[in-house]
Amino acid sequence: MTLDAGRIGIAGQALGIAQAAFDCAIDYAGKRIAFNAPILKMQIIQQKLADMALRIESARLLTYKAAALKDAGKPFGKLAAMAKLSASETATFCGHQSIQILGGMGYVSDMPAERHYRDARITEIYEGTSEIQRLVIAGSLIKEYQCL
Ligand SMILES: Cc1cc2nc3c(=O)[nH]c(=O)nc-3n(C[C@H](O)[C@H](O)[C@H](O)COP(=O)(O)OP(=O)(O)OC[C@H]3O[C@@H](n4cnc5c(N)ncnc54)[C@H](O)[C@@H]3O)c2cc1C
Repeated sequence: MTLDAGRIGIAGQALGIAQAAFDCAIDYAGKRIAFNAPILKMQIIQQKLADMALRIESARLLTYKAAALKDAGKPFGKLAAMAKLSASETATFCGHQSIQILGGMGYVSDMPAERHYRDARITEIYEGTSEIQRLVIAGSLIKEYQCL
């Protein structure tokens, strides 16, 4: 029960990291000039940003759903695991893409992108690793569908 509730908190933490990585990437892409234009004008950069935004919004909705179920006093263990798994993998994905968009500036510590990536990785480990979240989700599904 304690871990289930804590997982919603870690999902919130991961979402914040993912959002910060996105904010850093889109700001840099608008300012960085390569071949006489901001790199944000390149479709491949736009696609990376679209993928990041899509995952952030999806993880945010899952997190709100888990929190709403908990507030309503309803079972929320499966949704908490889904929210934590989705948000933490989103944070890792966005941290990775943010570094890629910043290029060399993403790797060095002058910019926050590399810290977002390091911070993201722990959210896939504590309060239950991603592997364990998948086991929790599968366990709930097996109970729900009474397949075993
Ligand atoms: C910075 C930090 C802060 C922490 N804070 C806390 C805290 O406040 N309270 C607390 O209680 N703990 C805390 N932890 C511990 C954290 O919860 C554990 O590190 C985490 O649960 C993973 O356990 P482990 O490190 O022993 O890895 P292991 O259990 O050795 O896992 C290693 C790998 O094997 C996989 N694995 C293990 N068992 C299974 C299985 N049954 N099925 C599939 N895969 C499996 C894991 O997913 C992982 O990939 C913290 C850890 C860190 C790094």
